[in-house]
Amino acid sequence: MAKPADTRIAGRKPAAKATPKATRSAAETEKIRAALAARRDELRAEYDQTLSEITELQRDRLTDSAGDDQADTGTKTFEREQEISLANSIRERITQVERALERLDEGGYGWCERCGNPIPVERLAAFPSATLCVTCKQLEERR
Ligand SMILES: [Zn+2]
Repeated sequence: MAKPADTRIAGRKPAAKATPKATRSAAETEKIRAALAARRDELRAEYDQTLSEITELQRDRLTDSAGDDQADTGTKTFEREQEISLANSIRERITQVERALERLDEGGYGWCERCGNPIPVERLAAFPSATLCVTCKQLEERR
């Protein structure tokens, strides 16, 4: 009753609450893009390396299998299978990164699915497939 109506209320801008919680600056988006692209190149190099190792193991198997006993052959087959499953998992990660880059262009990448906050660039660089911020991820794991 004492104070007159607060004049600040009248002068206040209309609530900005309808807009998303935060926006990323173009610079930040570029930083994510660069991190993802670097990761993709890294994975591709790793993939090529693994493929050439598989080829090599294959060649070994064909050339010196004459002198091998059964144990050697078994080891080489095992090694080759290991390399193949490694190559498959690397390829999967490449796909994830490529998908992330597409979503980044659409503006749907890098936001926590749970709380809607932006996921830190460093986290996205380390885990391109992350869909939760660290806090939400920890909450999720605790359940
Ligand atoms: Zn979150």
